[in-house]
Order: sequence, then structure tokens, then C-alpha cells
Amino acid sequence: MEEYKRTVLYVEDNQLNMALMHHIFKRNLPSILLLEAETAELGLSMAREVLPDLIILDIGLPGLNGYEALEILQQDEATCHIPVLGTSAFAQLSDIEKAKNRGFAAYITKPFQVKAFTETVKRLLDSGL
Ligand SMILES: [Mg+2]
Repeated sequence: MEEYKRTVLYVEDNQLNMALMHHIFKRNLPSILLLEAETAELGLSMAREVLPDLIILDIGLPGLNGYEALEILQQDEATCHIPVLGTSAFAQLSDIEKAKNRGFAAYITKPFQVKAFTETVKRLLDSGL
């Protein structure tokens, strides 16, 4: 069995982005276990159960959106300490400002720049990966 050092939960409704993320992790962050959730609702229950080291949260989701999910994570004592990396195709400066103000630890616009993305994940995990 493989030994994973850290766990990251990715909440994303787009299957192509999910596949890309698995690819990035396998290649650049192989010691991290990447878990996936297709909706915020599923992501929230997984976050409470698994307590991942980092959550990557898409903003545009069916049902609850990323901002609403972030608020619930922040209000829950069990999950409020987990850093949340927001991701979206919304790349306007106002979107980026909004994301930072809401309390995302970082915000990355799609399409992902793989190197910068990987570095942000490592920084947020703050470990000797
Ligand atoms: Mg989406």
C-alpha cells in the first residue's frame, strides 16, 4: 500500500478539470492523496469526515457554490482551520479581490498554470514535500 503524507480534497463539477488535477498530483505531488467531490454538499461532508490538509474549491458548482461552501467550512469548528484554495475561470480583478476578501487562502484562475499551481499547493500545505 502506498504511504500518503497529506490529503487534499478537490471539489469540482467539471470532469476534465478533475482529470487534469489527478494528472498534476500524480506527476508533481505524488505523496499527496487527492480525494474528489463533484458537489459542494458532498465536499462538505467529506471535509468533516476526512479533515483534509487542504481543500481546493471550485467557485462555480451546482447547488451550493464555492463561496457558500467556504462560509460553511469557516463556521464549522472542525473545518475552519483547513486552508481553502479557490479556483475559477472568473479571472476579473474584482473576482480575485472578492475571493481574497471572503477568506480563501489563495485563489487561482483556470486554466491552471501547472508550475504556479503546484507551488501554491505546496506553500499552503507548508510541509517538506
Ligand atoms: Mg465548476
